[in-house]
Amino acid sequence: MIDENCIFCKIANGQIPSATVYEDEKFKVILDMGPATRGHALILPKEHFQDVCGLSETYSKDILPLAAKIGCAMMKGLGCDGFNLVQNNGEAAGQTVMHFHMHVIPRYADGPRNIASWEPQSADGEELKVLAEQIKNAF
Ligand code: AMP
Ligand code: ZN
Repeated sequence: MIDENCIFCKIANGQIPSATVYEDEKFKVILDMGPATRGHALILPKEHFQDVCGLSETYSKDILPLAAKIGCAMMKGLGCDGFNLVQNNGEAAGQTVMHFHMHVIPRYADGPRNIASWEPQSADGEELKVLAEQIKNAF
C-alpha cells in the first residue's frame, strides 16, 4: 500500500524526482539530501511501512542482500573504506521520516568520524540477565 501523504512513497514511486542509485520492482535507492558522508544512500521500499516492525517478509528478505550490494558498489565506485547500515525506528531512535528506510553510509578513513557511534554505558551481569528475560518474554 502507498500513503498519499508520505514523501518517501512519492519518491519511491517516481512522483518526486531523486538522485537514484538503484531501482527494481520493490525498492528504490536514492541519495540522501542531507548526507552524513559523501554518497550516503537510502533504501526505500515502494510500499509504505512505518518501521521495521511492520515491514512485510516480501521486503525484509531482500533488504539485507540489497544493502550489501549497494555498500559493496560504494567501496568500488566511491573508493570508501567501509560503510554503515543504519535503520532508525521511532522518534526516540532518531527516525524523522515515518516510512521504513535503511541508510547505507559510506565511511572514509580520513573522516568524517562520530557517525553511528555511542558512548558505552556500564551494565552488570545480573541486570543483563533481567533485561534478556524481559525481551525474550515479549516475543
Ligand atoms: P531518519 O532520521 O532515519 O528518519 O532519516 C531520514 C533521512 O531522510 C535523513 O537523513 C534526511 O536527510 C533524509 N531525507 C528527508 N527527506 C529527503 C528527501 N526528500 N530526499 C532525500 N533524502 C531525504
Ligand atoms: Zn510511505
